Amino acid sequence: MDSEKIKKLENDYTANTYARYDVALVSGKGAVAKDPEGREFIDFTSGIGVNSLGFCEPGWVDAVQRQAGLLQHTSNLFYTEPCALASEKLIKLTGMSNVFFANSGAEANEGAIKAARKYKSDRFQIVTLTESFHGRTMATITATGQESFHRYFTPFLQGFGYAETNNTESLYETVTEDTCAIMIEFIQGEGGINELNRDFVDEIVKICDEKDILLIADEVQTGLGRTGKFMSYEHYGVKPDIVTLAKGVGGGLPIGCVLFGEKAKEILGPGDHGSTFGANPIACAGADYVLSKFMDGGAFLGEIADKGEYFREKLLAIPGVKGVSGKGLMIGIDVDEKNAKEIVAEALKRGLLTLTAKDKVRLLPPLNIEYEMIDKGLSILAGAIKAVV
Ligand code: PLP
Repeated sequence: MDSEKIKKLENDYTANTYARYDVALVSGKGAVAKDPEGREFIDFTSGIGVNSLGFCEPGWVDAVQRQAGLLQHTSNLFYTEPCALASEKLIKLTGMSNVFFANSGAEANEGAIKAARKYKSDRFQIVTLTESFHGRTMATITATGQESFHRYFTPFLQGFGYAETNNTESLYETVTEDTCAIMIEFIQGEGGINELNRDFVDEIVKICDEKDILLIADEVQTGLGRTGKFMSYEHYGVKPDIVTLAKGVGGGLPIGCVLFGEKAKEILGPGDHGSTFGANPIACAGADYVLSKFMDGGAFLGEIADKGEYFREKLLAIPGVKGVSGKGLMIGIDVDEKNAKEIVAEALKRGLLTLTAKDKVRLLPPLNIEYEMIDKGLSILAGAIKAVV
C-alpha cells in the first residue's frame, strides 16, 4: 500500500484523537525508519521512548518471534517463564520487592493509585505536581497536574492535590493529614523536560518519611536507562516505595509495571487488582530481552550517559539553541517559544523524526543509537533550526 492510501484509510476510519505527522511508516532498522516509497527517516523519537533498542533489533525480534510460536497468552491464572524471567530481572536491577504487570503507563499508574488508596484506610489524598503528566484514564488525567488536561470529562476523581513543581512552600500547603502518597516524575516529560530540584525532592522525601506517606515515582518516560541511570530517581539518591514503568520496557510491545518496595509490597492481595493482558508472555519475552541488556554491570548505562553528553555538547553549539534540559537520552531543547513545532515539522521534511514537549523540541533517540546516526541526525536538526529561527 502506498503512503497516500494508508493515510486516507486511517483518516477515514480511525478516531480523530491524534495530531499526526504527515508520514506513514512501513519498516525500520536500528535508528532508521522507511516510508512505503522507500524514503528514510532518522529516528530521534523511539516511538515516544518505546523502542529502547531501535527498530527490529535482531535479538529482540528472535525473542518475540520464538515466544509467539511457543505460547502467546495464558491468562494470569498460570505461571509462565517469560513473566518469571522479566520480573526477576526487574527486581534485581531495582532492588524493589515485587512487580505487578499491566499494559501501559496509565494502567501502571492506576495500579499505583489504587495501592496508595489502600495503604491507610483513613487517608486518600494523592499529591502530584502542576506540570506533571500521568496518563489519560480518568484517574490518571485527574492525577495529571497540567490544567490543559482538565478541560472536559468532569467530574474528576476526588482526593487529588497539586503542588507547584519545585515550590516547597506549595508542597507543604498541599499535603494534608489525608495524604497517603506523593506521586512525581523526577524529570517531567510531557510537561516540558523539567528536572526536579534536588532540594525540592529532599523535602518530598522528608515529608514522606515524617508522615508515613508513600513516595510514588512515575518512571514511565524516564525509566529503563533513558536518563543514563536505570531509574531517574537514582540521580537523586532516593528510594521510592512504588515505581511505575511502561514505554521502554517491552522494546516496542505494550507492557506496564508497578514495582512495589518493602513498605508497599503487601498492600495489594488476591482479588485487589488484575489485568487480562498483564504479563502477556510475548510482551514479557520482549521485556526480558530489553532488560537483559542492562545486566552487564552498568556498561550499557555508561554508554547512554556518554551519548547524552555528546548530544548536549553538539546541541549547545547549534545557533538558535538557547539551552538543553533533561538527562541522558531524554533531551529538551530550548528554542524560541513559538518555534518548536515548526522546527519539528522542518526536520521531518528533511528526514529526521523529533518531538515537542510543551515549548521545547524533545529528543528520545533509541538507547543504542550509533554515533554516526547521532551526527547525521544532528546535522539535519541544525539545518532545520537554521531554516526556522
Ligand atoms: N506517565 C508518564 C510520565 C508519561 O510520560 C506517560 C505517557 O507519555 C504516561 C504516564 C502514560 O503512559 P501511556 O500512554 O502508556 O498510558
